[in-house]
Amino acid sequence: MRMKTPEINVTRPAPRRTPQRSSTAMDTTAYESSLRYDHSRMHAAALYCSDGRLGEHFDDFLHQGLSLPRYDRLCLPGGPACLAGHPEANLEEHGVVDELKFLVEVHGLKRVVLIAHHGCAFYGTRLGLTEPRLELVQKADLVRAAAFVHRVTKVNAIEGYYARLTEGRVRFERVTV
Ligand SMILES: [Zn+2]
Repeated sequence: MRMKTPEINVTRPAPRRTPQRSSTAMDTTAYESSLRYDHSRMHAAALYCSDGRLGEHFDDFLHQGLSLPRYDRLCLPGGPACLAGHPEANLEEHGVVDELKFLVEVHGLKRVVLIAHHGCAFYGTRLGLTEPRLELVQKADLVRAAAFVHRVTKVNAIEGYYARLTEGRVRFERVTV
């Protein structure tokens, strides 16, 4: 801070913002994706945890494993946990229910995929759970969340999955809901 004070006193001309710099800045304000835009909807949504370490794995599973490109995403800490009746996630529950209803009305939502993941920090910190109980509660929550989604949206096609970490890989296991 002290080093910069003399500059404010106009003692130096200080040619700081050169045209070269500003044109570089301009170039970085726009980025055009190389991916083609497809207008059609999948009428499917997935609800999963916002943990960024798994974002690409969730996409890979939905795109390749379930053949659902362009699915609608509902991401928040804990994912389906917010629809399983935990008082700690009461606020999130209202938001997600609103969003699901919107997707049913506007996007013609017909299928919902719920995914819980191994070692989810929401269960560890917010609910204070540890393994092996943590996984059991997550799987029970998928069943509760599926019933709740069906009740509030009338969507019938609801699936549950558990993303297990094994030796640096992520394996998506079906959970009967
Ligand atoms: Zn998580």
